[in-house]
Amino acid sequence: DSADTDETVRSVCPYCGVGCQIDYRLKDGKIAWVDGAPGPANESRLCVKGRFGFDYIAHPHRLTRPLIRREDAPPKGLNVDPADPWTHFREASWDEALDRAAGGLAVLRDRHGGAAVSGFGSAKCSNEEAYLFQKLIRQGFGHNNLDHCTRLCHASSVAALMENVGSGAVTASFNEIEHADIAIVIGANPTENHPVAATYFKQFVKRGGKLVVMDPRGQGLKRHAWRMLQFRPGTDVALLNALMCVVVEENLHDRQYIEGFTENFAEFADHIRDFTPEKMAPLCGVDPETLREVARAFAAARAGMIFWGMGVSQHIHGTDNSRCLIALALLCGHVGRPGTGLHPLRGQNNVQGASDAGLIPMVLPDYQSVTSGEARELFSSLWGGTEISPEPGLTVVEIIDAAHARRIKGMYVLGENPAMSDPDAAHAREALARLEHLVVQDVFLTETAMFADVILPAAAWPEKTGTVTNTNRTVQMGRPAVAPPGDARPDWEITRDLANRLGLGWTYAHPSEVYAEMAAGMPSLDHITWDRLEAQGAVTYPTTGPQDPGAAVVFGDGFPRPSGRARFAPARVTPPAEVPDDAFPMILTTGRMLEHWHTGAMTRRASTLDALEPEATVALHPQTLKKLGAWPGDLMEVETRRGAIRLSARSDRAVAEDMAFIPFAFVEAAANLLTNPALDPYGKIPEFKFAACRVRVA
Ligand code: SF4
Repeated sequence: DSADTDETVRSVCPYCGVGCQIDYRLKDGKIAWVDGAPGPANESRLCVKGRFGFDYIAHPHRLTRPLIRREDAPPKGLNVDPADPWTHFREASWDEALDRAAGGLAVLRDRHGGAAVSGFGSAKCSNEEAYLFQKLIRQGFGHNNLDHCTRLCHASSVAALMENVGSGAVTASFNEIEHADIAIVIGANPTENHPVAATYFKQFVKRGGKLVVMDPRGQGLKRHAWRMLQFRPGTDVALLNALMCVVVEENLHDRQYIEGFTENFAEFADHIRDFTPEKMAPLCGVDPETLREVARAFAAARAGMIFWGMGVSQHIHGTDNSRCLIALALLCGHVGRPGTGLHPLRGQNNVQGASDAGLIPMVLPDYQSVTSGEARELFSSLWGGTEISPEPGLTVVEIIDAAHARRIKGMYVLGENPAMSDPDAAHAREALARLEHLVVQDVFLTETAMFADVILPAAAWPEKTGTVTNTNRTVQMGRPAVAPPGDARPDWEITRDLANRLGLGWTYAHPSEVYAEMAAGMPSLDHITWDRLEAQGAVTYPTTGPQDPGAAVVFGDGFPRPSGRARFAPARVTPPAEVPDDAFPMILTTGRMLEHWHTGAMTRRASTLDALEPEATVALHPQTLKKLGAWPGDLMEVETRRGAIRLSARSDRAVAEDMAFIPFAFVEAAANLLTNPALDPYGKIPEFKFAACRVRVA
């Protein structure tokens, strides 16, 4: 009962890209509970993470003082107890820790050149913090070796969207499904990973919409689907090309739309005719008649939308997968009108905003290429004449490889956990151990922080002010409900003070000053001022003026490409980087689960979520369990060419036979010790969704 609370603070959920608005209910200066607030994306709904995932902020593992590695510490490794780190670290004042953090990075820069230092920023920080982080690396070290977890998430989707549509953001909000007749959800599991968005998808079905789910795993939306295409893992291009072949062969494509708004159709049509359902069915495992039926329904619909997730993007052919989805929407004219559009469901709460803010090695804020003289000039003028490098920097996995090869010698890591999140995690951990100077800024002593020389304690999301941008392109205001514990401070303040020790002379006194500078270089934020966000809470870009809440659907009158047209990009079927063989006969796929968020740093320390899902499990089909001679609950060993882990078996009919699904949130059985670091050549995203493995009872 809200009468039992002293105060309510409205903010935004810190977990997924849906961006639900929340009300923190405060009692005696603490968060007593959380309610859904009437934000544009959630209309007061919340999932279990948003409602119960907040008490991590008071966990005894919280970092409350800066820490410095002890002179006599044991060798770096995953050997630190976050509850008792004192054989490895000692407490320090902010002055000593910041001097040490900045001094160590500056020494490496001066001795080896700026490219010897790199940075990972975070999609869990605010837009202002992401902006400052990329500015610090670009201004303080003179290059673009900075990235964040978008590289592990939708980098391939963004590569395909930028190439063929001219913008990396969604063309329509997920709430637009209300106006659609048909919707495809492919390679995404919204009931677990975007649960509030999934409620809108279910409502759409209830009012008669046709939902087509395409996924190698069965999932919660399956029972709401008009058709469920459980295709073979890694065969997305075969499946999607077959659908488009039907549309073109049967003359179902939208000629008027194609003539008015697209280019390269003739070449594309020639290419796509080869991919008949009969030829593709043996590859993708979906029968030709179902492929024809779905293709006809999507093409004939008045308004259709396509949603996708990591199942599409995390492949070496992730960019090709997204190229196909874009082409399918263009073929059927399902872009730019109410109830139509392309929507890659964003993962982290601020992965859209951090990317928009330029936390990417090849682009400045608003995706302005570092190779563009005009863009560099714009930011140089905002940054007091700084010379900005025109050379695109390295991406996440490339940075880790360069650290392993000792070419990168120092890193500043803000809120990312590559020791858990990077593919082939043993290699990533070795790379972190080889760094001569590692500064980690975080809320907890994460697995990555265990390798640090200096650890800077940061405020958690409910303890600071800042803006975030959700999957719908909606910029929202996050507000502090409680004070940070001990000496912990907001990330933007720490980054500012570190920058000033590098001699950058930053004078920001409040996030609003950072926002104003950022917005001056980002046309997408035209008419979206800090004061407006304070007053209105949420504004979607692009917006035409102070009274316009912003465009839910974009590109109705053309695309932001030089020709003004979207482009059809043909894609060919390519096999995964590693195919099953006699030694490793099964397929491993990894992902998230409803209760735990990414590497588990927050949710495994949230009491309700930890109680719901306390241990690591590998999900296997009952028939696979039988074949392996195993029962649910048995301890299993899962092994790939990169490593082996042990965890409990879970029976799950949704997982295909001879396939294993493992969430990557559990350090005691870290899925990424097994994953393949092979990269998509365009988006540079690793193939988390497909590796050859073997499984046995341990
Ligand atoms: Fe938070 Fe996403 Fe759940 Fe909404 S759907 S409450 S944003 S985790």
